[in-house]
Amino acid sequence: MSNPMHQATLAAKTHADHRSVIALSDTVSVGGESLLIVGGPCAVESLAQMEAVASRLATAPVQALRGGVYKPRTSPYSFQGMGQEGLEILASVRDRYGLPVITEVMAIAQIEAVAAHADVLQIGSRNMQNFDLLKAVGTVNKPVVLKRGLAATLEEFVMAAEYILSHGNPNVILCERGIRSFDSYTRNVLDLGTVVALKQLTHLPVLVDPSHAAGKRELVADLSRAAIACGADGLMVECHPQPEQSVSDARQALSLDEMVDLVNNLRAIATAVGRSIATVEPMPHLTLV
Ligand code: PEP
Ligand code: MN
Repeated sequence: MSNPMHQATLAAKTHADHRSVIALSDTVSVGGESLLIVGGPCAVESLAQMEAVASRLATAPVQALRGGVYKPRTSPYSFQGMGQEGLEILASVRDRYGLPVITEVMAIAQIEAVAAHADVLQIGSRNMQNFDLLKAVGTVNKPVVLKRGLAATLEEFVMAAEYILSHGNPNVILCERGIRSFDSYTRNVLDLGTVVALKQLTHLPVLVDPSHAAGKRELVADLSRAAIACGADGLMVECHPQPEQSVSDARQALSLDEMVDLVNNLRAIATAVGRSIATVEPMPHLTLV
């Protein structure tokens, strides 16, 4: 087999303990000892929804919020996301709760507005090899979460990261979210082998998204623990105030209580592998209940 890193000069580790720590905000980073737990709905649906998510998850604690406003949907007749209005909702909960927000950018034309409202840009699986989009986010001064393509090899995944790095953006966070296989019981196959390999071969932080991998909420907590046990730097998990009512990906969404339990039940594993979960520092203007 060819060496998948032979052209990945910027993503490759240069020494055994070479690890990039990437700042999402003044207080939140990923790739160091502390895990990054990202929670939130598949799609931003309303201000009330995101307020409910942020107020509950700030104390979980999660360190960042997610929510799509430009949604890559299989059907053009499905909800496509709130767009600009959704970006304003994300910016408003970020300001109120002090949690950085991550949202997907699907097109070059969306980059400026997304970068103006969000702390981290997400490139979704379907765009992992949209090379013009990768080059464009390579010129942005915000971290990028790059999700693995539905059927991308490790080499293709790393070379997609290399596109962003080589265009000037050093802040690339990889995210394994499951790959297509023959069994439809799980939506995708969570490839933890590749998570371990990426940690060995690259210095970039690696997140795991167990939600899109599993496609079923009852699998998400155990997969999360497995991901942290094998060395992932954090998780991106879908959750919703009323999971059954989610406009997209309802079947995999956790309730907010389940999300809080997931974080609490992760601590023992995190400690066992030398990692920690940051405790909350309440925002001065927030009353935590
Ligand atoms: C998402 O994170 O909402 C999403 C669409 O994920 P993926 O690109 O991994 O399918
Ligand atoms: Mn989703």
